[in-house]
This record gives sequence, C-alpha cells and structure tokens, in this order.
Amino acid sequence: MTTPAPAVIDAADLTNFLADTFHAAGCSQAEGRRIAENLVEANLSGHDSHGVIRTPRYLGWLKAGNLFADREVEVVTDAGALMILDGGFGFGQTVGPQAVCRGMDRAKELGVSVVALRHAGHLGRIGAFAERAAAENIVSVHFVNVAGSVLVAPFGGSERRFSTAPVAIGVPGAGGAPVILDFATSLVAEGKVLVASKGGKPLPEGSLVGPDGKMSNDPSLLYGKIDPTAQPNSRNGEGALVTMGGHKGSGLAMMCELLAGALTGSGATGPGYDRIYNGMLSIYMCRDRFGAEDDYAQELRRYVDYVKSAKPTVEGGEVLVPGEPESRMRAQRTANGIPLSADAWAAISGAGQDLGITPPQPVA
Ligand code: NAD
Repeated sequence: MTTPAPAVIDAADLTNFLADTFHAAGCSQAEGRRIAENLVEANLSGHDSHGVIRTPRYLGWLKAGNLFADREVEVVTDAGALMILDGGFGFGQTVGPQAVCRGMDRAKELGVSVVALRHAGHLGRIGAFAERAAAENIVSVHFVNVAGSVLVAPFGGSERRFSTAPVAIGVPGAGGAPVILDFATSLVAEGKVLVASKGGKPLPEGSLVGPDGKMSNDPSLLYGKIDPTAQPNSRNGEGALVTMGGHKGSGLAMMCELLAGALTGSGATGPGYDRIYNGMLSIYMCRDRFGAEDDYAQELRRYVDYVKSAKPTVEGGEVLVPGEPESRMRAQRTANGIPLSADAWAAISGAGQDLGITPPQPVA
C-alpha cells in the first residue's frame, strides 16, 4: 500500500466509510454509524485529537477484547436523583449517550440529577454531551477520568500520576448559542500529542516534562521513539504531560480522579490497569426550574456580549466565549471538508481497507 498524501475528506463520505468500517469490525450498523458520527463531529468541531484518528485504536481494543460492541448500561443503583451506571466497557459512543439520556430524563422529572458512569469505553469529546444537554435546556457539568492512562505529572512532580482528566460544563443558549467549556486538565490533550507525533500541529513549548524535570514539546517523551509504521503507545515514553494552570489545574485533575474515578466506582488512575476506559460523574440541572426563561435569556446575552466587548490584546483580535471556536470550525469544515495529515489518513484508511472497506476519495 502506498502512503497517502495529506488529505481533505468530505465529512459525509468519511462518516459513511467509518460507519461501514466499525460495522465490518463487529458493531451493529446503528452503533457503527453512531461511532462514526461522533468521531467525525469531533473533527468538525476542530478537536482532531478526539476524532477519526482514534479509529485504529478503537478497532485494536475491540479486537483485543478490551472494548465491547453494542453494550447497554447496567443500572447499579437507582436512588431517584442519583443513578450509578456501569458501562461494561462498551463503546463510549454508545454507553455515554445512554447515560446522558438517563440523566437528562431524570433531571426533567426532578429538576436535578447526578449520574455516576463507571467502566465506559473512551467517551471522546466530552463537550458533545454538554452540547446535547444544553440543546434540551439542561445545564450540565461533567468530570471525567481515564483509568489506565497515567500520563500527567502533578504540579511540582516529574512522574505521571493523573490521566488527562477532562471537565466539561454546558450552559443553554436560551435561543442563541450555548456556552460550552470543555477541556483536558493537562496543558494539552493526549490526542494532541498523538496528532503531533503523526506530523500534525506541533505542541506548544512546555507541554511535557522529562524525567530530568526539564520542560519540552517533544512527543517522544510520551511515546518513546516514534515509529511511523506502528501505533504510538503512551506507555513507552519516559516523560509526562503537565497540567494546565499550574497548581490550580493540578488540583482540578486530582478532583476529576476522585469524582469520576473513586466516587463513581470506576477507579482512579494508576498502574495495574489493562484497559483504557473512562469514568464520568455528571450533574444535570433543568434550566427552567431556576426562573423565567426571558430573564435568563436577557442576562445570558447581556453577559456574553459584555465579555466579548473587552478590548482585544492584539489589533484585529477578538474575544471569544467557550464553544465559539468549535461552532465556527464546524461551519467551516462542514463546507470544506476535514483535513488529515498523511500519517493519520494512512492509518485510518488502512484500518478500513483491512476490513474490506474502500476509503473515500479526498476532495483535496
Ligand atoms: P482546548 O485546549 O482546545 O480547549 C477547549 C475549550 O476552550 C473549549 O471549551 C473552547 O471553546 C475553549 N476555547 C478555545 N479557544 C478559545 C478562545 N480563543 N477563547 C475562548 N475559549 C476558547 O481543549 P483540550 O484540552 O485540548 O481538549 C480537547 C478535547 O479532548 C475536549 O473535547 C475533551 O473533552 C477531550 N478529552 C477527552 C478525554 C477522554 O478521556 N474522553 C480526555 C481528555 C480530553
């Protein structure tokens, strides 16, 4: 097989290709499409790290029996406003939405709900859940950890102790755009190191720390020597990612581990796990229980406009609110296609070809 050049792929073509690929690998047609749509949507939102680049890994986990097709969440505890659910290591694109739907339904009934999801396959871009809740006028807060993925050094340390433990908060837009904050507590998400290791966008300086305590942006500190023909394995590197925001981000990462890992019963990050999976503690609050929609809409708009009206630091710059970069990127990439580096496209198209699925022709 010749190595493809960097490619721009139409989002709908890419979705169809990946849906067929996951179906050929053993997922039902519905699940294959759900996974494909979720991954492509992450690329459309500009988060290539949590998009289609994950395909070979997901397929590898499925084949190895670390991830299971077509799982239904198991209800461990149903105590009204609190539900504890076990994802049974099913695809995060399946058990994640199941947990979110249950949490939203319960919040609509009671005003508020808390859902502890344990043992979920990789949940991808957590902000997608916050967007889904916001679209139904529900405020949501999500704390996530990734047991088995010890990648991040605590503040002041040069050895890994945390996962990239993301947090997402979504506030409904009251007829306008919602405000969606969604980030990894590491300075950069692991997937961004994956993208950089495959020739994509380089990492900001100081994203990683070496075993000697020196800051760097070299992906090999996470993956060891980069071999373009092999899947990078984060267990091979000697360094660590650093947290965002110094001691504050380090504290937030620790809370994600305790809330999403320890409290849910999913397990806080550490050595000795043979799988990469997510735990997630989510809180859902029905917006309409907090007062009149018009008052909220007016105050939200006033405040968003007030924030955005701050004088930019650079001439021609602009203040954005969380969620804006993603919605702008979605509009642009839906129209023009999704750009993928040569390595990423080779790995993704090759994974489909191995299962007998023909990859789409790039649009550029
Ligand atoms: P990031 O650093 O790109 O930050 C994204 C957040 O910052 C968004 O809310 C975005 O709207 C906001 N933002 C970006 N630029 C902005 C600007 N100029 N002005 C105002 N706001 C701005 O995100 P990240 O840390 O690289 O995380 C990427 C994705 O990785 C997230 O979707 C996260 O959920 C996901 N993730 C998932 C897992 C998992 O295990 N499932 C683990 C880690 C990260």
